[in-house]
Amino acid sequence: MTGSAGEQRRWQEVIVDHSQFPRRQGQIENADLVAAGENPLCGDRVRLYLRFDERGRISDARFEGAGCAISMASASLLTAQLVGRSRQQALAMFRAVHGAMTGSDWPEDFDAGELEALELIRKFPLRVKCASLSWHALRHALEGGGEGAVTTE
Ligand code: ZN
Repeated sequence: MTGSAGEQRRWQEVIVDHSQFPRRQGQIENADLVAAGENPLCGDRVRLYLRFDERGRISDARFEGAGCAISMASASLLTAQLVGRSRQQALAMFRAVHGAMTGSDWPEDFDAGELEALELIRKFPLRVKCASLSWHALRHALEGGGEGAVTTE
């Protein structure tokens, strides 16, 4: 991110748009993977549902949850980007986005697309737990952590 005012405004608009019109909201019946997370500090809750195809790529991703605008926008951005990725690619996406939210540079070989909007969160340290909730839930489930909810506390 260059940090220009115009670019920041554009990324703010992406976050507002995803919070007002969440993509891929809902459940998947008989999902291959379910991931849940809670952020008690803010009251955010999210549940992710993933389906994998025979090649091990994510063929469907949905989420349901309730919470602040940032937590819901982040879950929407996450699920919108998951389809077509392998587990390894999804974990790489977690690392890239979590790093960006907490102050690291994006990996050079990573095409962030709309996810770049989440870099704005680094300016609001108190909201990192809101924004990273669905991402931590994803990582926990992809690493075989089971369906118990990940908590930020
Ligand atoms: Zn929140």
